[in-house]
Amino acid sequence: MFLENKANRNQKKGWIEGGSMFSGKTEELLRRIRRAEFANQKIELFKPAIDTRYDETEVVSHNESSRVSTPVNSSSEILLYINMSEVQVVAIDEVQFFDDGIVEVCNQLADAGIRVIVSGLDMDYKGVPFGPMPRLMAVAEYVSKQHAICTRCGDLAQFSYRIVPNQQQVLLGEKDAYEPLCRHCFDEAMNNTED
Ligand code: ZN
Repeated sequence: MFLENKANRNQKKGWIEGGSMFSGKTEELLRRIRRAEFANQKIELFKPAIDTRYDETEVVSHNESSRVSTPVNSSSEILLYINMSEVQVVAIDEVQFFDDGIVEVCNQLADAGIRVIVSGLDMDYKGVPFGPMPRLMAVAEYVSKQHAICTRCGDLAQFSYRIVPNQQQVLLGEKDAYEPLCRHCFDEAMNNTED
């Protein structure tokens, strides 16, 4: 579905594509990057500096493939690292942690003819749309949702239920702090938590 777009190299046309997923989202991002690499495209990969769960600079998926990335503190920093006329693909992992400016940055890159691949969690642990994700999904040309499997009933899961008690929206450093749940099991779990 996502072409490496080699034929149009002289006539650069950019776009934004994104995945919002619970598990497998980083793996999917790395898969798309590998395909672009096979097409000899120039790629830059970024992640928010606060996300150092697995590694300081590498983006590491759950099944432990990885690629070196540039950690940045804010969305505007991304533009400082990019040579717009050289780079063909910009990939951003854990994009939900970025400030709202990330939407404009992605638009600017796509307008300049760059393929922008973003990956992030669409909802936080309360089931509320996460940071800039709703706006990013609105401006993206292509959005795919990759669901996990509900650990309680086996249906498709799109909610991340927090297993450890904590009220902060951003909780890092704990790989196993979340359980993928379907809407029904998530509602049930949230009701039990409130009791
Ligand atoms: Zn379920």
